[in-house]
Amino acid sequence: MKPVLALVGRPNVGKSTLFNRLTRSRDAIVADFSGLTRDRQYGEGKGGDKPYIVIDTGGLEGGEKGIDFEMASQSLLAIEEADVVLLLVDGRAGLNPGDTQIVEHLRKLGKPAHLVVNKVDGIDEEVAMGDFYGLGLEQVFPITASQGRGVKKLLDSVLIGF
Ligand code: GDP
Ligand code: MG
Repeated sequence: MKPVLALVGRPNVGKSTLFNRLTRSRDAIVADFSGLTRDRQYGEGKGGDKPYIVIDTGGLEGGEKGIDFEMASQSLLAIEEADVVLLLVDGRAGLNPGDTQIVEHLRKLGKPAHLVVNKVDGIDEEVAMGDFYGLGLEQVFPITASQGRGVKKLLDSVLIGF
């Protein structure tokens, strides 16, 4: 069975950009508009010779209503379907209460999750990451989804054991 990786995080942190890179497609819509990907989107990729399935989600903020609630539900379903959750955060924006809420939710579900600190281009990586260690997730990966820095290392680590 191919492992299923779910990309979860607040809107605009770069989930769709990473999805495109992991599936080498332009299918997911990348935009500055928050939460444009309203549905779950599935794609496939390979890390070395290990195939995987990846799910892009619209974004999760906690306390959503209306269309936001719809998007949040999609994210929750994606989390349920996933073998591993990649929680994306924005290294430039720093820690956000929404990030903490998502971590608490993942912990309740007992889902294995890796923390992916995106957008570390042009900023001090160590400083950016320091903000997020307090979330208490075991592994923290700095990446630039738009340029692909750190993505291979992330993928190799995630796919160990599958
Ligand atoms: P999503 O809402 O989480 O799916 O986020 P998107 O993938 O749509 O990206 C939101 C914005 O962040 C877009 O303008 C992307 O170009 C930008 N972005 C994504 N990854 C990076 C990155 O590594 N560095 C920088 N500087 N911007 C990024
Ligand atoms: Mg998106």
